[in-house]
Amino acid sequence: MRAACVVGWPVKHSRSPLIHGYWIKLHQLDADYRREEIAPEAFVDFITHLSARGYVGANITIPHKEAALALSAPDDRARAVGAANTLWLADGDLHSTNTDVEGFIANLDATLPDWDLTADDAVVLGAGGSARAVIYGLIERGFGKIHVVNRTAERAEALRGRFGPAVQPAHWSALPHLLARAGLLVNTTSLGMAGQAALDIDLSPLRRSAVVADLVYAPLETALLKAARARGLSTADGLGMLLHQAVRGFQLWFGVRPEVTPELRALVETDLGK
Ligand code: NAP
Repeated sequence: MRAACVVGWPVKHSRSPLIHGYWIKLHQLDADYRREEIAPEAFVDFITHLSARGYVGANITIPHKEAALALSAPDDRARAVGAANTLWLADGDLHSTNTDVEGFIANLDATLPDWDLTADDAVVLGAGGSARAVIYGLIERGFGKIHVVNRTAERAEALRGRFGPAVQPAHWSALPHLLARAGLLVNTTSLGMAGQAALDIDLSPLRRSAVVADLVYAPLETALLKAARARGLSTADGLGMLLHQAVRGFQLWFGVRPEVTPELRALVETDLGK
């Protein structure tokens, strides 16, 4: 039997066991996917003995993603993002990647096939860990101007240092002007998430062809997505990204490339609603 796990602290909120468990059953694999709640002081020991514990790989969640990067051989995406969320053992080495990059892009490709036709200006709200994955994905896709709007200006400035001149730090006050020229708006802040403050922005400057994406998936339909849909704009939600980011890990560990199906989406939606 091949086994993988999600390692976090805490980890009980993770939907990864539900997603991977669905695919294991669907493909009738002799495989298992478990939760591992590991405190920061025990993380190095856990990861360096991953194979001895019976695992071929793991997903990594808060607060271990930076530590996982340091303990593994990262690919270009993990290195650029500065965090690893997927580990796998191959030829005795521990490799890592960051699948949030492809999760974000693959979800847009699946939901709105022509979303990147113009590779126009993009506006990214937030400058945290998920913003780094989104920005790297947009640069890979050829976006030349990514306006990063963040409460803490220095964090947006730091992303320009990390990713180069495509990143243009901006203040919230510049939003109306930036939105008027943007083909894509992405929320990577935790604003709008259940229990957090609301994300309150006026979408009226956006063109009719603009796409609005939100990484927040609890609630599933955020106020931002609701407002965008009410204006007739195309949208992509955080649950789609969450499901698509899981594909690569499953393929690396179990040798089958799984699909994000409406049935899987419905299963996770139901769980989120509990
Ligand atoms: P993070 O690294 O902690 O970054 C949080 C960001 O939100 C920062 O830019 C922060 O600004 C901003 N922020 C927080 N509270 C704010 C407030 N009151 N006003 C203005 N800005 C505020 O978090 P993350 O890992 O990037 O995650 C962000 C969100 O994305 C979470 O809701 C997470 O669940 C979601 N996410 C979803 C997926 C998915 O697959 N759908 C994947 C990853 C993350 P400052 O820099 O000023 O603090």
